[in-house]
Amino acid sequence: MAKPTLSVVVPVYNEEEVINESYRRLTEVLEQTGETYELIFVNDGSRDKTLPLALEICEKDKRVKVIDFARNFGHQLAITAGMDASSGKAVVVIDADLQDPPEVIPEMVEKWREGYEIVYGKRIKREGETAFKKFTAKVFYRFLDRMTDVDIPVDTGDFRLIDRKVCEALKLVPEHNRYVRGIVSWLGYKSCPVEFERKKRFAGTTKYPLKKMIRFASDAIMSFSYKPLKLATLLGCGVSLLSLILLIFYAAFGQLNPVTSLIILGIFIAGLLFLCLGIVGEYIARMCDEVRNRPLYLIRKMHNFDKEED
Ligand code: UDP
Ligand code: MG
Repeated sequence: MAKPTLSVVVPVYNEEEVINESYRRLTEVLEQTGETYELIFVNDGSRDKTLPLALEICEKDKRVKVIDFARNFGHQLAITAGMDASSGKAVVVIDADLQDPPEVIPEMVEKWREGYEIVYGKRIKREGETAFKKFTAKVFYRFLDRMTDVDIPVDTGDFRLIDRKVCEALKLVPEHNRYVRGIVSWLGYKSCPVEFERKKRFAGTTKYPLKKMIRFASDAIMSFSYKPLKLATLLGCGVSLLSLILLIFYAAFGQLNPVTSLIILGIFIAGLLFLCLGIVGEYIARMCDEVRNRPLYLIRKMHNFDKEED
């Protein structure tokens, strides 16, 4: 099969309520572009009917391919697997729930034709999400921006188009705790935004509970900033200095009550030490991940690819 112009990667995790509509809307838009394309659904260990539905689609439409993960590896690894397996001259990553409107894709393709190697979707408005989600997202993107030296665009998710070159470059970064949009920014290349309004989920509920959101945010910060580590050192120095000043102060005024002051100070310093150790531990845990060099994901089977494997 000849290589298509576009590859569209859609991660799906328990999306039985949206996958058919997602396929319908994407097909409509992609057919209108007049480009050849492949649509890759990455089933990230769904426990509902997502896989049979995806296989049904892929049976009817040979432009649709399915990657079936052995278990839930998470959104970031699902899009990585899709990009790794794609063969298009440009690759678009989009969520399955239609929060990222497929109608923006032709605009992205246009920009790519103009010569941009990365065209990212910038959310100018978010609809149908909880105030908590909107607030945490807003704070997170701005906080991350202040913490890192890499220019990672704010209010930008994984909805983007990347050129084949960028896709190949991405393969050279085998990080496990992946913050894909950060890595893409870190790569460089010529990029531009396309603005869009983030819609309400078509159906179903978010697959990003608070626990996954926290994990996601800490991956982003730890992968792209050493500032938390520096903060630990700074705090350590500050507190030691403070205790020294207090000691001198009390001694000078002859009011040093050894029992109470030492106990309070001791607890204070111990708490801070644990905090610092915790931060260092976070990095060490991630270093262990990299050193272990486990595969990023395990695929049970690939469907509708040129080389069928059993
Ligand atoms: N997703 C995934 N694996 C996960 C969690 C999410 O593949 O462990 C997919 C999900 O099916 C969707 C996309 O990632 O296509 C974004 O997830 P969701 O819409 O639930 O996140 P939100 O928009 O609420 O941040
Ligand atoms: Mg969503």
